[in-house]
Amino acid sequence: MLEELVTNLEGLFQDYDFSSLPQKKQTEEKKPRIRPIQRNQMILHPIEVDRLIPEYHEARAIWEITGSLDLSCYYDHVDAVEGGAGAPAFDPRLLVSLWVYSYSKGISSSREIARLSKYDPAYQWLTGMRPVGYHTLADFRSAHKDSLRQLFVEILAILTSEGLVTMERVMHDGTRIKASAGRDTFRGEKRLHEYIAQAEAQVKAMEEACEEEMAPRIRKARERAVRERKERLSHALGELEKIKSQKRSTQTRVSITDPECRIMGQSDGGYAPAYNVQLSTDAHEKAIIAVSVSQSSADQTLCAPAMDRIEETTGRLPEKLVVDGGFTTRNAILAAERRGIDLIGSLPDTAAIRINAFREEKIAEAFYPEHFLFDPERNVYICPEEKILAHRGRSIHPGKTTYRYQGKECKNCPSKPSCCPHAAKGRFISRIENDPIVEAFIAKMKTDEAKAIYRQRGEVAEFPNAWIKEKLGLRQFHMRGLLKAEMEALWASITYNIKLWIRLCWKPRLEITG
Ligand code: SF4
Repeated sequence: MLEELVTNLEGLFQDYDFSSLPQKKQTEEKKPRIRPIQRNQMILHPIEVDRLIPEYHEARAIWEITGSLDLSCYYDHVDAVEGGAGAPAFDPRLLVSLWVYSYSKGISSSREIARLSKYDPAYQWLTGMRPVGYHTLADFRSAHKDSLRQLFVEILAILTSEGLVTMERVMHDGTRIKASAGRDTFRGEKRLHEYIAQAEAQVKAMEEACEEEMAPRIRKARERAVRERKERLSHALGELEKIKSQKRSTQTRVSITDPECRIMGQSDGGYAPAYNVQLSTDAHEKAIIAVSVSQSSADQTLCAPAMDRIEETTGRLPEKLVVDGGFTTRNAILAAERRGIDLIGSLPDTAAIRINAFREEKIAEAFYPEHFLFDPERNVYICPEEKILAHRGRSIHPGKTTYRYQGKECKNCPSKPSCCPHAAKGRFISRIENDPIVEAFIAKMKTDEAKAIYRQRGEVAEFPNAWIKEKLGLRQFHMRGLLKAEMEALWASITYNIKLWIRLCWKPRLEITG
């Protein structure tokens, strides 16, 4: 049956021409056909600017928040007026948005922003496809410090209204950011005087030079350069005088590039020209509520100014202020008490420092102060040899009174080589009496509650420091001088706070409206 069916089928197709059917496989290989790239042509390409970036793009959030700010302090500085001559000015809202967006991407160079605004979709969207020159951007960033402070306050007000700032618990900390100056730019007083004398001689030589020797434009430019150098050197000399007048400063040289920066210890253990950036962070959502920049590498004197800066920025004081041992001084404890702030900190333990001092003095352990007995009735100390150390005076400092006692019979004492080998007039002992406010602080810091709050400090206070360095890339200032360094720190803090608002308010709202 099957054989019959096959025979019939063969018969059916025997006259058909199979070569007319398309061949599946070519016996001869052909070249692939590729679209050509033609660059010598002009194309008009329509762009819908608003669709350059998606709905959830950060640039939209930045534009939205800058639109809700009162930027009148910036608009007051715009020279171009309607009906007046000249080109219209760039909108301060745009310039603020461009800087905030750029900082958020770790870009802090005005030239880089100007370059990106020619082709990057987010920048094109922000500028409406009209690139902004780098001079405009650079001038805007470093101008109007008061307006920038106001901008910081405005953003803080938005965060507060969104419930991101409570002022219940504020953590304060400092971080050192490198200055825009190399270590090789530091000079001592003698060399500065030499440079100033050279600059003065150059100015004089230019004044005496014949008019025909130089084109007026070049002459003017050179005169300005020499004058500016002389001003910078004189400023450096002034800063050096300032450093020398400070009691504890050991710095004897100053940078001729940025005379206002100081040599400070870095987290890597090295030393570099830097500024000490002080940030106060609200513990609720880690918003930065106050920023300042100091030339002091030590934090001991910076706690009270931090309290004032918080009040200046937010209009009120925090309930609790948490600081580390570097900031906790008796002065800080008293300053907090005066302002009604509950200070949480840690008074540095000086025991180790004292023991080192005793070792250097070659005092044997058996003659450390704890082996001397205090007799409060007679106000004297009794030494291990049972001799009397009489009261010799006192000194009063904020938060403490130091009483001094001196031995009268030490000269012929057999224990003198172990007790006070180098003291010509006999052994000295000091007794510190703390102010009751300081005593209350010490007692408070022994409680579990205060210890628990203090333990939160590192996580909260160090977060914005690390974020500004790691995410915003602000490891070194681009601008020079204390004032401009503070402005750069403000720009970074504004960006940090706006990013916080985007993450906690803008994005969740967008998800809901959907
Ligand atoms: S040196 Fe003076 S203070 Fe020290 S044990 Fe002798 S008497 Fe006492």
